[in-house]
Amino acid sequence: MPDKDLSHILTHLGEDRSQYFNAIAPPVIQTSNFAFENLEQFRAAFSDELHHHVYSRGNNPTVQILREKLAALEGTEDALVFASGAAAISAAVIANVKAGEHVVCQQAPYSWTNALLKKFLIRFGVEHTFVDGTDLASVRAAIRSNTRILFLESPNTMTFEIQDLRACADIAREHGLVTMIDNSYSSPVFQNPADFGIDIVLHSGTKYINGHSDVVAGVLCASREMVKKIFESELMTLGNMIAPHDAALVLRGLRTLPLRVKRSDESARFIVGKLENHPKVEKIWHPFHHTFPQRELAMQQMRGCGGLFSVQFKAGSMQNMEAFVHSINRFLMAVSWGGHESLMIPTIGFYNIPGRDNPPMPWTFVRFYIGLEDPEWLWEDIELAMEHL
Ligand SMILES: *Cc1c(COP(=O)(O)O)cnc(C)c1O
Repeated sequence: MPDKDLSHILTHLGEDRSQYFNAIAPPVIQTSNFAFENLEQFRAAFSDELHHHVYSRGNNPTVQILREKLAALEGTEDALVFASGAAAISAAVIANVKAGEHVVCQQAPYSWTNALLKKFLIRFGVEHTFVDGTDLASVRAAIRSNTRILFLESPNTMTFEIQDLRACADIAREHGLVTMIDNSYSSPVFQNPADFGIDIVLHSGTKYINGHSDVVAGVLCASREMVKKIFESELMTLGNMIAPHDAALVLRGLRTLPLRVKRSDESARFIVGKLENHPKVEKIWHPFHHTFPQRELAMQQMRGCGGLFSVQFKAGSMQNMEAFVHSINRFLMAVSWGGHESLMIPTIGFYNIPGRDNPPMPWTFVRFYIGLEDPEWLWEDIELAMEHL
């Protein structure tokens, strides 16, 4: 999307300032319900709760502003905002299957998407098949007569495998499937899956969209018809909507989305550039890196990468690896990503946890997220710590 369009969406779209004293920042309409002046208004509201103000489990004016902006950012007709990314993902999937039906999902989804299919929906008679999404023949082969959904996550957020979005949308259309994608990695700034024919675009709003590590939120962008269907069923019955105050925080975060993701993108590429020739580095995972097997496809579908990449280091021993991790000071050791602060997840932390299997990833593997700090300052920290390897 051209920067001019982004400017309009992020600064003005959906903001009818004459409704609230011409305030620049929209108010938090912190109310549970709305009153009607007469029966005519009452009846109109109950004919269509999505477009009237009845009760804040449904439509709330602060949330409404956010919905309009997010739909425009993804180039879809409408959007819904949820209490978490997991809530948005589960609403999208549950809305489009019933008992006896089947979901095809790329093989390495976010952990709670995995749990939704494997532990939750299986109890309600919905089956699934995980496929290697980098191989279109496997995607085709997994589709059965009762398949209803093709679920994509491209790239994923650990090793960044990519699915060909246009080809997947075409295959799905041939079989009458609904396509959905977890687009959290790219944010709407770097990839718009609806342009390739994907039906439902999902985000963990907790990551780049809010971007300040202080709200958990989820986003669902789709056609007007799909949004209405999910609003009237999954959102209203499960009650998994965002609260007005959190919506106002996300709106504030959204103002700087392009600045933030471009900064993280540039800084991550700077650090990857430093790491790639270092003798203690075995392998780098980053979708635009020259060693990435799907680089060409990544560059066709995506306009940038953001702050995530992974590294396999050469460490003499587990003790050395632990010393390396412990001497990194400018990255916080934490899950999640997409905020202002740089983070790392060292796989060695998942080794030797009582009652848990060791992970498939080697203990030399670290997933980094680069935030908004000075990249030279971050690199200094990694470089110094690498002396322990
Ligand atoms: C964090 C994350 C989610 C889940 O979002 P929540 O807001 O934590 O519920 C889903 N997908 C991806 C890729 C994520 O990183």
